[in-house]
Amino acid sequence: MKIHLQKLVNKVINLEDYVYLIILLAAFLHISFLILFYFMNINELFYLNIVSVLIYITITINFKTKYARTYYMIVYFEVLIHQLIAIYYTGSASGFDLLLCCLILVQFLFFKKSTCFLSTIMIICLIYVSYFQADSLLLHSNKLFTIDIYKNSNIILYPINLAVLLVFLIVYGVLVTVIPSKRINDLTKIVYKDFLTGLNNRKYIEDVVLSKYNQENILVAIADIDNFKHINDTYGHQTGDIVLKMLAIVLINKNKKYAKYNVDICRWGGEEFLIIADINDTDIANMFLNEIREDIFRLKISDLHETISVTIGASISSFNPKEYKQMFEIADKNLYVGKNTGKNKCVITKA
Ligand code: GH3
Ligand code: MG
Ligand code: MG
Repeated sequence: MKIHLQKLVNKVINLEDYVYLIILLAAFLHISFLILFYFMNINELFYLNIVSVLIYITITINFKTKYARTYYMIVYFEVLIHQLIAIYYTGSASGFDLLLCCLILVQFLFFKKSTCFLSTIMIICLIYVSYFQADSLLLHSNKLFTIDIYKNSNIILYPINLAVLLVFLIVYGVLVTVIPSKRINDLTKIVYKDFLTGLNNRKYIEDVVLSKYNQENILVAIADIDNFKHINDTYGHQTGDIVLKMLAIVLINKNKKYAKYNVDICRWGGEEFLIIADINDTDIANMFLNEIREDIFRLKISDLHETISVTIGASISSFNPKEYKQMFEIADKNLYVGKNTGKNKCVITKA
């Protein structure tokens, strides 16, 4: 499956949530460099960092999430210009080019593909131009530093910049892998959940449960609340919803009691619930489904001055993944038999 990183990340990560964090980290980094350049007597970069720190402080104070994209652009150009100037002054061995590599990665998160391509070429060209410019200046003139200062400063600067790169790579790795996969897991759970009852939904049965079986004899049952329209019409939809939730609790409890039969229950739709279990024996199926029916019949719901009942249609047969709908149809037919012969009963057939 082809996944476009930028689209995926945008979908599952709200980049706006992270822009404030990125700006705070950038501010922290610049303050550290400010102190470092002060003690190293590299005045040009010390002043440059004052400008950068002022930019980040201004953004932090006036931060508004709706301008997140603009802040990204400001961070992008600030980092680009800052690193190029730093390379120019300290040479190719200072490791400031490593920080430009971070920039190449970050742009994939929020630039268009075509823009990323162009800006990557631009960054690479600028790195090399500034290298040649910087090193030839440093080696052949006495303009900025003596060779000794240049060498000494890089003994300190390179490990620091390498450390920044490594921390960045770890944070970036988490951002584009761990967080999206966790969000996808969360989203998958939501996709398979019925919002009202908390049970799994029909999609879960179709995608996950049915793929567990192949030619085994299993029980498929559909439980449908009797006269539910009447309950809605008489007591209101909210009470109807409470009935659905209570029914789900009964089903979950029954699921626990019969856990050894690998029971799967879902809200099939409306007031219908689907039950699938590794039950091959008609007597066990009868006991299991009638217990459900009786527990529901015994339910006491405040404000509801009548009993709740369900009719259950079920089928036990060999599960054929290609023709599984047939099993559902038999259960459905049995359900209608139950509905037409007095309701509040279970009708089970074994093929
Ligand atoms: P029968 O005994 O033949 O099954 O009759 P019934 O009234 O239960 O069946 P019918 O199909 O006529 O009505 C089903 C009702 O279920 C209609 C619909 O408004 C209600 N319903 C479906 N989903 C929900 C829901 O999420 N909440 C509530 N409160 N009602 C729902
Ligand atoms: Mg129905
Ligand atoms: Mg009904």
